[in-house]
Amino acid sequence: MNIHEYQAKELLAKFGIGIPTGYAAMSVEEAVAGANKLPGPLYVVKSQIHAGGRGKGKFVELGPDAKGGVRLAKSIADVEADAKDMLGNTLVTIQTGAAGKQVNRLYVTDGVDIAKEFYLSMLVDRASSKIAMIVSTEGGMDIETVAHDTPELITTITIDPATGFMPHHGRAVAFALKLSGDLAKQAQKLSSQLYTAFTTLDCDMLEINPLVETKDGNLLVLDTKMSFDSNALYRHPDVEAMRDETEEDPMEVEASKYDLAYIKLDGDIGCMVNGAGLAMATMDIIKLNGSFPANFLDVGGGATKEKVTAAFKIILSDPAVKGILVNIFGGIMRCDTIAEGIVAAAREVDLDVPLVVRLEGTNVQKGKDILANSGLPIVSANDLGDAARKIVAEVKQAA
Ligand code: ADP
Ligand code: MG
Repeated sequence: MNIHEYQAKELLAKFGIGIPTGYAAMSVEEAVAGANKLPGPLYVVKSQIHAGGRGKGKFVELGPDAKGGVRLAKSIADVEADAKDMLGNTLVTIQTGAAGKQVNRLYVTDGVDIAKEFYLSMLVDRASSKIAMIVSTEGGMDIETVAHDTPELITTITIDPATGFMPHHGRAVAFALKLSGDLAKQAQKLSSQLYTAFTTLDCDMLEINPLVETKDGNLLVLDTKMSFDSNALYRHPDVEAMRDETEEDPMEVEASKYDLAYIKLDGDIGCMVNGAGLAMATMDIIKLNGSFPANFLDVGGGATKEKVTAAFKIILSDPAVKGILVNIFGGIMRCDTIAEGIVAAAREVDLDVPLVVRLEGTNVQKGKDILANSGLPIVSANDLGDAARKIVAEVKQAA
């Protein structure tokens, strides 16, 4: 789960981490009220969307010459004008995709006199089973270019969660950022606080870009992105309360209500599968046959008829779906239950795309009979390869 910048900063501040003062705003009036509480004379008005690259982003409605989604404002009147410009409009950045994201929230914050911009991020590194802290002296809006062209300017420090954050990790961070004296001490303290925040909150990613050295010699977090391990959210109701469903894919939100693991993808074959491994294999074999999956969907081991119906409706609500492949191994779940769910769902919605079903396991014959006797144009398949070939052929034929 992702949260907004202002929410992430609120969380970091609780760990004693330095952030510029700022206020979230849902309206122009709130933005002005927030600015009035700040000392000035420099303010920053920041679009709050779950995507980075806002500074260089463009508003669809304002044309290519308008300023981006992060703006320096020199007066309260400027804050007001910027807030009017941004709220309700669609911001396109390198991370939003071409459709962009509507800006519904702003963050009005203190303008900071920046001496230098750094980069610092943390993530769970599955390869080493450790936490990686990635730092660079080249922070700011072009970190992707730095990573691509000059990867030697990026340093990775790995921290073993079994022993935790040690003073030498902090010294390594300060060294990689080429800091000395008091700034090095600040970097050591900050990286330790960030590690505590990261592990305490069950983050899977925390990125600070830029981390800045101010002209008066302080390290401050100017921008941050945080995402959390959804499986650990039950331990953090305060974080869960920060969820902004308007930023999420509506189909993924719907799927989470039914406890379905659903991820929207770019292809045109909808998949309904039980078990993550089988779902991955199904996506692979669709690709092997020359098409692309429209989604990953794991209905889980003990899915009910209701769950299958919901899953089916979610897949069908995606206009990109040109065909559906159901691939179920009935171990815990019985094939006849699945078949009943499919038939019920197909009746409820207007099934106007080809549907190939491969069932295997407990009560497979019963399940196949239910499908065959349903009067619906369902194509039955005998194994995974057969199923993939059939659905790809059906979709190509219909196109
Ligand atoms: P994004 O990464 O989405 O473009 P940032 O919050 O990093 O958004 O803002 C982009 C740039 O704007 C930063 O690299 C920084 O130079 C500048 N900036 C952001 N916040 C402030 C601030 N409070 N004071 C001064 N400059 C800022
Ligand atoms: Mg940034």
